[in-house]
Amino acid sequence: MPGKKAAMQTIILCISGHDPSGGAGIQADIETINQLGGHAASLISCLTLQDSHGLQECRPVEADWLRRQAELLLADFPIAAVKVGALGSLAVAQATTAIIQQLRSTQPDLPVVIDPVLSAGGGGALADNSVLEHLISQLLPMASLATPNLSELERLTTISDNPDTAAASLLQQGCDALLLTGTDSPASLADNITHWLYAAPNKAQAFNCQRLPGDYHGSGCTLAAALALYLAQGLDRIAATTAALHYCWQSLAQGQPLGRGQAFPRRGPLS
Ligand code: PLP
Repeated sequence: MPGKKAAMQTIILCISGHDPSGGAGIQADIETINQLGGHAASLISCLTLQDSHGLQECRPVEADWLRRQAELLLADFPIAAVKVGALGSLAVAQATTAIIQQLRSTQPDLPVVIDPVLSAGGGGALADNSVLEHLISQLLPMASLATPNLSELERLTTISDNPDTAAASLLQQGCDALLLTGTDSPASLADNITHWLYAAPNKAQAFNCQRLPGDYHGSGCTLAAALALYLAQGLDRIAATTAALHYCWQSLAQGQPLGRGQAFPRRGPLS
C-alpha cells in the first residue's frame, strides 16, 4: 500500500555451499528465510557438482574472497543472526570463525546456528578431517544452537553408543544448545521421529513428529535456516525449535521429487 511503511526485515547472514539442484545449501537458506519474512545475506563457502541423487564434487571458494565479501556485508547491514552450513575447506572454516568472532565482539548475544554438515543428504563428503577438527575446536563452541543428526554427532564426538553423553560433551566444550535431529536414529519408531533439544542444565526435551515417507534433500538446511530466523526474531530456544520443526515438516510434507532422485522440500507458499 503506498505510503505504508513495512516492518524492517530481519537479516540473517548465511554461510553455506551452493547446491545447483536448488534443494539444499545456500538456496535452501535464502528461500526458507525469505518465506518466513526475513532477508538472507549469503556468503557461498563452496560450489558443488550435484543433482538430486547426490554430490560428486565440492570446490571451496578462496577464503580471502569470502573474507572480503564478509567485510562489505558487515559494514553495510545489521546482522541479526548467523547460519552456518557446509564449509568445504579448513581455510573457509577459519574465515567463518573470524567473521563470527568479529560480529560477536559488538553483539555478544548474536544467535549463531551451526548445521555441522559433513556430507550431502544423498552421500558425498562436504568436510574433510581438518574441517571436522575446526568445527569441534572452534566453531561449535560458539554456537547458540547446533543441529547435528545422529551420525554427525557421533563423528563430532567419537562417542557412538550414547547420544546423551555425546551431546553433553559438546555442551561442555561451549556450545549453548544442541538440537539432535532424529531422522537417522534407530530409536525413532518407523512411523515416528523424535528430535532432542539439549541445553544444560535442563533435561533433554523431546519433539515428536510423524515420519514422512520418502527421502529428502535439503531438510537439514531448511530446519537450521528457519531456526536462525526465529531466534533472530526473538523467540526463545524452545519456541524457535517448535516453530522451525513445524515449518520444516510442512515443507517436507508438501515437497516433491522434482528430479529423479531425492524429493525436495516445498518452499513456495505452503497450504
Ligand atoms: N550444504 C550443501 C551445499 C549441500 O549440497 C548439502 C547437501 O547436498 C547440504 C548442505 C546438506 O543437505 P541436507 O539438508 O539434505 O542435510
